[in-house]
Amino acid sequence: MSVKRTIYIVEDESHIQQLIKYNLEANGYSVITFSSGEEMLAHCETVIPDMFILDIMLPDMDGYEILGEIRKDSRLSKLPVIMLTAKSEEFDRVLGLELGADDYITKPFSIRELVARVKALFRRSEKPYEIQPEVLTAGDIKIDVERHEVYKGDQKLDLTLKEFELLKILMQNRGKVMTREVLLEKVWGFDYYGETRTVDVHIRYLRQKIENDDSKPEYIETVRGVGYRFI
Ligand code: CA
Repeated sequence: MSVKRTIYIVEDESHIQQLIKYNLEANGYSVITFSSGEEMLAHCETVIPDMFILDIMLPDMDGYEILGEIRKDSRLSKLPVIMLTAKSEEFDRVLGLELGADDYITKPFSIRELVARVKALFRRSEKPYEIQPEVLTAGDIKIDVERHEVYKGDQKLDLTLKEFELLKILMQNRGKVMTREVLLEKVWGFDYYGETRTVDVHIRYLRQKIENDDSKPEYIETVRGVGYRFI
């Protein structure tokens, strides 16, 4: 493991604080505990953690209010949050998820479960970062996957969502023949019972936008009877 990940915990009961801290530290995490949301948010001004664990019932600011502040702050808003709820707070749990908590744990909880949830949440939240700043280029075509933007030279192209998805998949699989069925499934989803002709129609639109001469395509090649290939 490279850098230790830091978790901030807000919990007013010191024995629970210590129990969580001890066990997460034993699992290789760095943990800082706070008794109030104000204190924790003030600390975020200097050091940003990798995850928050928030108790809901707290004397001053409650867990929901803290969560609200986290989601409002652009530096913190994407960080994973686990809420700690008491069994009697069934409704609040729903509210917590609506407010953007990533997971919740009901008290009393087993410490093993908590550690497993923390690990799982780190795994889940890692993925978008790995594929994040993806920019694919081919010739004078550039596609910024994250920002959903396509450029031809300096000119920004106006693609529909389906055209964008189609281009993205073709470019990600550059040189590989993609069958109409595969494209249909990936772009339109399993549930789409459209004909594979839909793919042809969208390829035609896409070519009009990205090719220099769409009657002589240089980017998207037709593989007769099979599908398409980005070259
Ligand atoms: Ca509490």
